[in-house]
Amino acid sequence: MMRFTVVGGGAAGVLAAIHLRRHDPSAQITLIDASGRPGTGAAYGTSDPAHLLNVPAPRMSAWPDDPDHFCRWLNEHAVSTFEGFAPRLAYGR
Ligand SMILES: Cc1cc2nc3c(=O)[nH]c(=O)nc-3n(C[C@H](O)[C@H](O)[C@H](O)COP(=O)(O)OP(=O)(O)OC[C@H]3O[C@@H](n4cnc5c(N)ncnc54)[C@H](O)[C@@H]3O)c2cc1C
Repeated sequence: MMRFTVVGGGAAGVLAAIHLRRHDPSAQITLIDASGRPGTGAAYGTSDPAHLLNVPAPRMSAWPDDPDHFCRWLNEHAVSTFEGFAPRLAYGR
């Protein structure tokens, strides 16, 4: 069994961890983060829904082989975008 330790639980660390998990479901992955709120980091930790991403939602999928994933998630959770830009907190969720 492969073991991984990811230090830093912002977007990059969490996305690295989930890609490792998808690649090797049996891997043991430890995520170390100082914030207590893994996944949000500086960019997606806001609580204000008026703070929008600076990249359009169709280009924010975490899965290269499923580029519509984030847009589907927004629709399923009834999250509105503004001219194609989603709230930062939605990406954090
Ligand atoms: C205001 C702002 C807006 C942005 N908007 C966008 C956008 O709209 N679209 C886009 O694609 N990109 C955007 N970015 C770029 C964004 O930073 C990256 O997309 C991504 O969030 C960076 O992730 P990261 O994990 O590298 O860093 P961060 O998200 O900063 O995460 C770093 C993590 O490491 C942890 N950490 C730090 N030191 C330690 C330690 N010693 N031990 C353990 N944990 C530690 C912190 O607690 C934090 O959780 C934005 C950036 C900022 C600052």
